[in-house]
Amino acid sequence: MKMNAHHKPRRVFSFEFFPPKGVEASANLREAGRQLLQLKPDYVSVTYGAGGSTRHGTYETTKALMAEGFHAAPHLSCVGGTRASLVEQLRAYHSLGIRHIVALGGDLPSGMASPGEFRYAYQLVELIRAETGNDFHIEVAAYPEVHPRAASAEEDLRHFKHKVGCGANSALTQYFYSADAYFRFVDECEELGIDIPIVPGVMPITNYKQLARFSDACGAEIPRWIRKRLESYGDDIAAIRAFGLDVTTELCRKLLAGGAPGLHFYTLNRAGATCTIWERLGL
Ligand code: FAD
Repeated sequence: MKMNAHHKPRRVFSFEFFPPKGVEASANLREAGRQLLQLKPDYVSVTYGAGGSTRHGTYETTKALMAEGFHAAPHLSCVGGTRASLVEQLRAYHSLGIRHIVALGGDLPSGMASPGEFRYAYQLVELIRAETGNDFHIEVAAYPEVHPRAASAEEDLRHFKHKVGCGANSALTQYFYSADAYFRFVDECEELGIDIPIVPGVMPITNYKQLARFSDACGAEIPRWIRKRLESYGDDIAAIRAFGLDVTTELCRKLLAGGAPGLHFYTLNRAGATCTIWERLGL
């Protein structure tokens, strides 16, 4: 692993949430937030629904998490949005004191026939830089196992390099369970001269059916040996959880030992799995 051999930046740890729907879900997120705040992450991020469907929820959740004491980075996606609405949201976040954002292309919302003015994330990165200069630290998405719509791994990498060149400061990856895929991706990026930190996204395994559904949609691979084990546990939630935590903790350990510049946990608005992995890693 060549990564960060010469300059060792501080590792960055972050937690991702989604805007809760309804009173109970909001209370659950507040409780998860309260527990995760104890771990003192560098920041938390809040997802954004395709085409702006959670625009209000993302803003309100970001604000609520800031009030709890987190540094927050909202996600923003451009496909299906207009320049005016995106600029308006950037300004609103800027006024809140936000200086960190996760810039995405996003997916075309179902039922929308045309992507509108924007097709790719690099266009949003350009827009943010054009409208707000260097005020925001911009995170972009990266795909060690290749984005599902990419024509090839090589094309995907070329587009990633272009997106980074438009002004991204760091990247967060889609989740994966193969550390080799990540290290290979990082090496290839380095060979191409991409020199921003690429922080692995970590999805703790707690619920097999949900994970299988997600993974099909976003192109993340669950290795056969993990899938077979999880399937064999059937409805034994405790066994799935125990095995899932072992696998995910071991993955994190390998990633950090190999020089990963931090970890970004997909919490799904729950604290338990992330806290357990955190403790086991001794962070
Ligand atoms: P892009 O970087 O634009 O890439 C999308 C595809 O287009 C890739 O296949 C790429 O190779 C290709 N491409 C890029 N540029 C070009 C070009 N010039 N010509 C041809 N092809 C090109 N989704 C949400 O809806 N809300 C969220 O909050 C959210 N958060 C995420 C957070 C992380 C860390 C990650 C990894 C993903 C997240 N996603 C989210 C999912 C993401 O929106 C989808 O994966 C989406 O399909 C692509 O977004 P992107 O920013 O990677 O797009």
